[in-house]
Amino acid sequence: MKGKVYLVGAGPGDAGLLTCRGKELLERCQVVVYDRLASNQLLELVPKDCKKIDVGKRVGNHPYLQSEINEILVREAKDGYFVVRLKGGDSFVFGRGGEEIQRLIEEQIPYEVIPGITSAIAVPEWAGIPVTHRGISQSFHVITGHTADDKEGMSEDIRKLARLNGTLIFLMGIGNLSKIVGELQIGGMDENIEVAIIENGTLPNQRVTKGNLKSIVHVAKERKVEAPAILLVGNVAGLNFEGDRDHQKKGVSVGVVGTNHMFSKMKQCIKKMDGKVIQIGTTKIISIECPEWDTFCQDVRTKEHSDFKGKRWVAFTSSNGVELFFSRLIEAQIDRRMLSELRFAVIGEGTGNKLKEYGYYADFMPSVFSGECFGEELSNILNPEDRVYLPRAIGGSRELVDKLLARTKRIIDMGIYDLSLNMELSDSMNKINECDYLAFFNSSTVHDFMEQLEDKSILEQVKIAALGMKTMQAFNEWGVTGQILSKGCQVDELCKKIREDYK
Ligand code: SAH
Repeated sequence: MKGKVYLVGAGPGDAGLLTCRGKELLERCQVVVYDRLASNQLLELVPKDCKKIDVGKRVGNHPYLQSEINEILVREAKDGYFVVRLKGGDSFVFGRGGEEIQRLIEEQIPYEVIPGITSAIAVPEWAGIPVTHRGISQSFHVITGHTADDKEGMSEDIRKLARLNGTLIFLMGIGNLSKIVGELQIGGMDENIEVAIIENGTLPNQRVTKGNLKSIVHVAKERKVEAPAILLVGNVAGLNFEGDRDHQKKGVSVGVVGTNHMFSKMKQCIKKMDGKVIQIGTTKIISIECPEWDTFCQDVRTKEHSDFKGKRWVAFTSSNGVELFFSRLIEAQIDRRMLSELRFAVIGEGTGNKLKEYGYYADFMPSVFSGECFGEELSNILNPEDRVYLPRAIGGSRELVDKLLARTKRIIDMGIYDLSLNMELSDSMNKINECDYLAFFNSSTVHDFMEQLEDKSILEQVKIAALGMKTMQAFNEWGVTGQILSKGCQVDELCKKIREDYK
């Protein structure tokens, strides 16, 4: 059984510059093997269960060798998968796509090549520079600036290029900028020829630096120009056909580090403000051993001959708690009819709605959604002989317990679950680069996140939106300050804060 490999050119960066055929294949593939891509939006096109293999260069990590990438493609195809090999721009323009194909041919693996829009043409064009223009430039030449040293014979070639009248487009040329410019000058090129450098072309952080052959090295140094960038030499650089680009007047983009549930809640809110939500890491809920839970089960089972005088309450502080509560009841083989004497309290509407999904209507909900208010108002209606069970995440706030203790000593804090953050680091770093805000919903995820994040300086580019005081305090513990905060505990309040701040 053999799969097939589709070599798809991803275009230069903006997600709209992928071909229709490329999109169609991404939407159907079982495996996608991708480079350090300009846009994560393309990866969002793949089916949910698609295997994503990142073979891009990562900071601090060794890049994959071309031979290793070749073998990954061979392996996945031999396993019978429908593989998309997604490469920036066009796969054959300094993309080493040919080498991958040669290896597939050796193994007789079927393949298809789908052209992509190359950055060589599209990046200047997006920045308003046509690569040819009647009367100014009759040809264009695409050159790698990477190996512009003598041993590759590039110096000679560059000097020859200096005598052409066409536009010269250097890819991977920034590291050798002064060398390239020097060779062009030796080759006799006019010093007044216009030059443009376009960094991060077609992306929201695109930056254009213009000058002429004489000035460009100096200007580029001053502006600290960096790769990826296109260096374009030719008088077309003096034209400016940029126009107005509607779709780049974008809304806010918010990265979510939390459960799938929080992700979809944020998505609903942020969508209303024309923004987009990116899932950075997923927090998973893990049911854990809990001796107090066993006590609870015991209490429920013995209800008939119980000698409790007071009422028994179960107070839920989150929908996660509700879900876990009921799934653990099934595990413990407790018949729901045994619950008939329990009273249920919920912290807010969301938790109450979750409870309704199980067919129960809350007996109590505080007037304001907050742990403090929940504790205070619930304790007002408790009697000293009442019992309160708190099925919640381990390490939950003391505040609630203290408020309830003021009324009854019978508070049973049941840490029945823990949260654990699942995050693929290099993928997340790319995604964070696209975000204006990063949203967090609980302190334990903040700690997990900070522990996993190698390069913490990335947080200087984004603002942090923390739900609730404890979540914000967790950041303070890591020395991260200057973030925004929602005073309440509800997702829509946090979104409102983001909206106000973004304006
Ligand atoms: N196959 C790709 C090029 C790969 S070589 C293509 O057809 O576009 C990588 C070089 O391409 C980078 O060093 C840079 O010079 C250029 N490049 C790719 N994307 C770019 C972008 N969005 N902005 C500026 N330069 C880009």
